[in-house]
Amino acid sequence: MTIALAAALVVGVLLYTLFIRAQDVPPPEPVSPLAHLEDRKAVIYDNLRDLQFEYRVGKLSDEDYQRTKISLQKELAVVLGEMEETAKRLGLATKKSAPASKASQAAPVPNTCPHCGAKFPQSMKFCGECGKAMA
Ligand SMILES: [Zn+2]
Repeated sequence: MTIALAAALVVGVLLYTLFIRAQDVPPPEPVSPLAHLEDRKAVIYDNLRDLQFEYRVGKLSDEDYQRTKISLQKELAVVLGEMEETAKRLGLATKKSAPASKASQAAPVPNTCPHCGAKFPQSMKFCGECGKAMA
């Protein structure tokens, strides 16, 4: 009798979990597919600012600063790429919609920021130092 009750309880919990809960849980897809990417971008920019701050107050060595900065910039490049792809997939124009021909008329040194002059080991869409769009 006890086993039957326990079994019934288990079945009840399983049914609850599988059927009732699944309906109650909102769909995982965010309202805007770009929203979570925007969030990630904001977090990376925050991290870059924090990193610069810690470097300026002397908490970080040059080596640590450069290494962390580069890894954050790579992460940022990935997020920005994903945002662009998502926007394209949705048929949306990005806020700063650049003409397709822009690459051909780009500055000769694409990995140097035209705003603050910071240099990066790879081509970036946005400057990791000042956050402005790079050519
Ligand atoms: Zn810059």
